[in-house]
Amino acid sequence: MGTAKLTINLDAIIANWRALDALSASHVQTAAVVKADAYGLGVARIGRALAQAGARIFFVAVAEEASALREALGESVEIYVFGGHMSGDTDMIHDLNLVPMLNSLEQMTRHFEALPNAPFGIQLDTGMNRLGMEESEWYAVRDIALARDPKLIMSHLACADEPNHSMNIKQLDAFVNMTNGVACPRSLSATGGILLGKDYHFDLTRPGIGIYGGLPFKAAYPAVSLALPIIQTRQVEKGESVGYGNTWTAKQTSRIATVSAGYADGLLRALSSNAMVWAEDIACPLIGRVSMDLIAVDVTHLNTIPRAVDILGPYQTVDMLADSAGTIGYEILTSLGPRYARRYAGGFKS
Ligand SMILES: *Cc1c(COP(=O)(O)O)cnc(C)c1O
Repeated sequence: MGTAKLTINLDAIIANWRALDALSASHVQTAAVVKADAYGLGVARIGRALAQAGARIFFVAVAEEASALREALGESVEIYVFGGHMSGDTDMIHDLNLVPMLNSLEQMTRHFEALPNAPFGIQLDTGMNRLGMEESEWYAVRDIALARDPKLIMSHLACADEPNHSMNIKQLDAFVNMTNGVACPRSLSATGGILLGKDYHFDLTRPGIGIYGGLPFKAAYPAVSLALPIIQTRQVEKGESVGYGNTWTAKQTSRIATVSAGYADGLLRALSSNAMVWAEDIACPLIGRVSMDLIAVDVTHLNTIPRAVDILGPYQTVDMLADSAGTIGYEILTSLGPRYARRYAGGFKS
């Protein structure tokens, strides 16, 4: 088979969610963020595994993302939408029974007019300046909003992956001030915020990347491995070059493997001549440019040529590969392409 194999370990994902859940006090509820198809790993399978592990609240980015999750999990869970109530979303929010996080006066007006008795949450901006109501806007509508019983008030930290960043305490103070005296549940922390400690937990946490095995959750179990088949190998003589643009030239007689996966599969072009793949526990350099469907790997030092090499696995985590590309684990995961043969290992039997 020429298709690379992506294995997603549901037991690791469940263990990561439970470990993040255990980091907050027992009265704090732990949700699961499954936006972008569960960070590229498949929202239906991962949603089912996390629901069976005990997750009851899920977050998606936009209303459209909720339909696959609702189909997989039925009405047993609550689905919140970070992007709120956009124009054209009303039927979807109603039919799928979603909880939009209202981000502005405009969204609040839309929601109260279109679905007067439907649930909602409020997102506040505490300094990130991305989503949510600003302080002045919030104080203008606070009494009206609270009178309608929001299910959740939340904000999002900009620098939680840097524990000593002064922005964290600034946003914490702003959130405490803006939500002083409210009766409804509050939420401030994603993965990074959970690790900042109890002051940041409030009533509900919203981890994403840590569930999927990524930093800043250092204790996470790796959740994905990716094996790339070798299509052919060839001997390349000293002075010959490999791949587009002749960017790699053999300094000695070399054995080069042509491997099936490329930038169309999320192996970012920034990895060109700058990453390792693994034959069991032996590192092999990726050489030359990443093509759309192929990469080249120097396997001169291997005694036997394996059928496949691992670009994610026991010796290379998502974050190590991200480092090689100058990016973050989130981008590696969400770039994993649709062409892989996906296999889900472990998890509960239903
Ligand atoms: C993506 C996101 C999360 C999850 O963040 P992680 O860093 O992946 O844990 C939580 N809250 C909001 C608002 C988000 O956009």
